[in-house]
Amino acid sequence: MQKMEQVVFLDLKAQFSDIEKEVLSGVQEVCQSAEFVLGSAVSEFEQSFSDYIFSYESAPKPSLEQALEQRIQDLSHSTHPNRCVGVGNGTDALEIAIAALDLPPKSEILIPANAYFACVEAVLNAGMRAVIVDCEEDGSFMPKDSMITPNMRAILCVHLYGVMQDISAFEAFATKHRLKLIEDCAQAHGASDEKGRKAGSIGDIACFSFYPGKNLGCYGDGGAVVSKDISLVQKAREIANHGQKFHNGIWDKNNHYTLGRNSRLDSIQAKILHIKLPKLSQHNAHRMRCAREYCTQLERFAYLKLPSVFAQSVWHLFVIECCGLAESKRDRLLAFLRQNGIECGVHYPHALSDIATLQAHSDVTIHSSPNASRRSHNILSLPIGEHLDFSHIAYIAQVLADFEQTL
Ligand SMILES: *Cc1c(COP(=O)(O)O)cnc(C)c1O
Repeated sequence: MQKMEQVVFLDLKAQFSDIEKEVLSGVQEVCQSAEFVLGSAVSEFEQSFSDYIFSYESAPKPSLEQALEQRIQDLSHSTHPNRCVGVGNGTDALEIAIAALDLPPKSEILIPANAYFACVEAVLNAGMRAVIVDCEEDGSFMPKDSMITPNMRAILCVHLYGVMQDISAFEAFATKHRLKLIEDCAQAHGASDEKGRKAGSIGDIACFSFYPGKNLGCYGDGGAVVSKDISLVQKAREIANHGQKFHNGIWDKNNHYTLGRNSRLDSIQAKILHIKLPKLSQHNAHRMRCAREYCTQLERFAYLKLPSVFAQSVWHLFVIECCGLAESKRDRLLAFLRQNGIECGVHYPHALSDIATLQAHSDVTIHSSPNASRRSHNILSLPIGEHLDFSHIAYIAQVLADFEQTL
């Protein structure tokens, strides 16, 4: 066997040391300005994130004139409205987005069973009901007419692992059944569909998390709500700040026209995100190269099912399925990888349909979800991110080959 290496799952310390100077001077600026809550750091980041999400990475133009026209349009970004509201975290973003939609109380919202717990938590905490349905065999989510109930008003499209779901199908489904389409982009910053439309720009409203480990992460908690519908952006902004009115860029303080909450993006976090955003595309491209290399190196293992190398994905996670093996085999593989210095994760170890708290909840309907259940026992997430290089991947492939020998 090759000599033991250490491959960490995530390397936030290395990430910081690359941008330390910029970040520290940015933090200093915020402290000197004493604009700790809201203020210019937050509005600057909101505008740049809004421009990023709503600018189309359009296909190459057929003529120079058309390309120039596009460029001029891109340069006039400053005139674009701010379609982003910074909030406290990704879970709040979901809850605020649902509240902004103003659905009748106890409306049902369709959710895939292989999502994160926060997805269903937000639905319930927003006073809605959750209908949990199975994912496809490969973990993608495809809504079906048979999932519709009379009280259903919205569907949550979770771009899990960074994979852009078939959003055109969701749009058609939502239109057909008059549902609001909510996108959960907490794992999909910068992902786009084959038309170049970014995750978050397509649904009625969308949510992001800037938790440190996400593709775009801050140094604490943070999140955002975005929408192409400016009135929903305004509504979300007001809900996130105690239900006060926001008029022409000014808060009508102490005039609480509705019940809201306090969930604002911290100014220091906004500054850090503003510094990190321009590097996101480059980091996502590196994740893509790593994913391709993984697919090439791991293709030979019959006991593993790999994600599609052609997925429209920003590869937040590289999730493999340990298939055709008894349940405990995944855990044996996980232990074997860890013994060999490879840090892995499981996203997530319990399908929502298998969680007792949800099974017992009177506002949750659970459909049989064999795919999501099976996957929760078979999947594992290999390290991926800026810190990973091809020698790590070669080492991981070697360890996976060694494991195969033990089967
Ligand atoms: C991280 C995450 C959330 C929650 O975001 P927080 O900022 O941790 O509250 C919601 N949905 C998905 C899919 C996530 O990955």
